[in-house]
Amino acid sequence: MKVFTGKGVYGAVAIGKISIFKRKEVAVKRNHVEDAKSEIMRLAKAKASAVKQLEEIYEKALKEVGEENARIFETHMMMIEDEDYNESIRNIIETQKVNAEYAVAVTADHFAEMFSSMEDSYMRERAADVKDISNRIIRNLDLEENGNAAGNEKVIICADDLAPSETVLLDKNMVLAFVTAYGSSNSHTAILARNMNIPAVIGAGDAFLDALEDGDDAIVDGFTGEIFVNPDEETSERLLKKQKEDEEKKKLLEELKGKENVTLDGKKINIYANIGSVDNIGAARLNDAGGIGLFRSEFLYLESNDYPTEEQQFDAYKKALESMAGKKVIIRTLDIGADKKADYFGLEHEENPAMGYRAIRICLTRPEIFKTQLRALYRASAYGNLGIMFPMITSVSELEKILDFCEEVKSGLRVDGIEYSENVELGVMIETPAAALISDRLAPMVDFFSVGTNDLTQYTLACDRQNAKLEGFCDTHHEAILRLIRMSAENAHKHGAWIGICGELAADTDLTETFLRMGIDELSVSPAFVLKVRDVVRNLDLRA
Ligand code: PEP
Ligand code: MG
Repeated sequence: MKVFTGKGVYGAVAIGKISIFKRKEVAVKRNHVEDAKSEIMRLAKAKASAVKQLEEIYEKALKEVGEENARIFETHMMMIEDEDYNESIRNIIETQKVNAEYAVAVTADHFAEMFSSMEDSYMRERAADVKDISNRIIRNLDLEENGNAAGNEKVIICADDLAPSETVLLDKNMVLAFVTAYGSSNSHTAILARNMNIPAVIGAGDAFLDALEDGDDAIVDGFTGEIFVNPDEETSERLLKKQKEDEEKKKLLEELKGKENVTLDGKKINIYANIGSVDNIGAARLNDAGGIGLFRSEFLYLESNDYPTEEQQFDAYKKALESMAGKKVIIRTLDIGADKKADYFGLEHEENPAMGYRAIRICLTRPEIFKTQLRALYRASAYGNLGIMFPMITSVSELEKILDFCEEVKSGLRVDGIEYSENVELGVMIETPAAALISDRLAPMVDFFSVGTNDLTQYTLACDRQNAKLEGFCDTHHEAILRLIRMSAENAHKHGAWIGICGELAADTDLTETFLRMGIDELSVSPAFVLKVRDVVRNLDLRA
């Protein structure tokens, strides 16, 4: 047995086989094949797996997000069997003597283009679906070709490091846990693990990957940050027991579903959930979140190979709003840059990307991107209770420009006769010391503040959140940070705005009482922490 220790970022125990993460070529290669027949057989196998996966996803979605939202996966299953689609793929393989991956990718492009040019909006939306099913088939072909030690079993993914764009593309249904040799606990990769309820350990060290083989048995203890490779019997039994106890504890918390977030002396607070994609809404609902306090919209961009269109964004936002059935959904506008990069943005290398060209700075200087997103958001606002918030604000003038863009987009919609809600709440993230220090100026301009403690901590303490070596210097309870939050809360309330916290600190139950005493109105946490924070709130008494 070998033991490694890193930092646990989501407390749970996972037991399974190791799969070493292989970086895949994004582009599908065109390869010549001699035997077209065996290529068509490969294709048939990959398609059969795709249908099976979709059946499972459909069942899961049915339980978690209801029939209407699950129906899309039925459509996907039908599309996979579509005669024209299949004939096109077969034709390309046979006539051009090329690999199945290439034939699927070319067919996908061709069909997507055809759907996009149709008059009917329902048919236009199918462009994204045909890409989606084709990518699934290509992934299955790739899996079969390059193998995966554990076949179709769920695995423990081990990697040197994972970029947010790589994490978001992992098939969550196939991941038991993930462990990285490098990385820090406030990185977006760690945050995604929490959002996805996946036990995760980061920073397991240089030697970690060299000591592993694909298919090794392993146990990941997300509480202690330990990874046991080829564990002995005593360790296996101990951790299996720990896993069961943890599951029982989580079950106990389920009794709090449907109960209020109210202290013993009657103070109420909203507890919302943070999500990275519409897929996480199931978890938010399952954990009885009162709303969505942070939808990190940039993951829509990271999942795509090109700028998501207004239509694609509208679909995602509308789905989120409808799934939350009238509960508040706060969508944060694009926060790309720093560690969250998509090639097609063409962002240049920077020496200090966290303090660089990112988030609102990109949106304000590339208004075509910003306006497309705002238009999709306002269109979606007709389908629920939307809040929009803006990241990385440092000045009043930025906010003035943003509000002008909002007005421009709304007036465009009015001219086009497109419905939107007049009750969209607008907010700014307080995640730079500058924003906290001028919160008295910002508060009268918005409906709410949401404190992004992850960035607020990095900028206040001058601690790069990506740098694992700084964990010891990065005191998230530092008085400077608490003072900035308190100051923002006082200024928000003075001007009739409400204030929430959506950074990871919101789930730190050692601070729940402090936050309530400051008058924080909302805490937005990873879905799996909603009930844990509710439990703490319900046992607090602020009279003392
Ligand atoms: C934050 O900075 O606290 C925050 C919520 O935003 P992100 O983690 O996505 O930067
Ligand atoms: Mg931030």
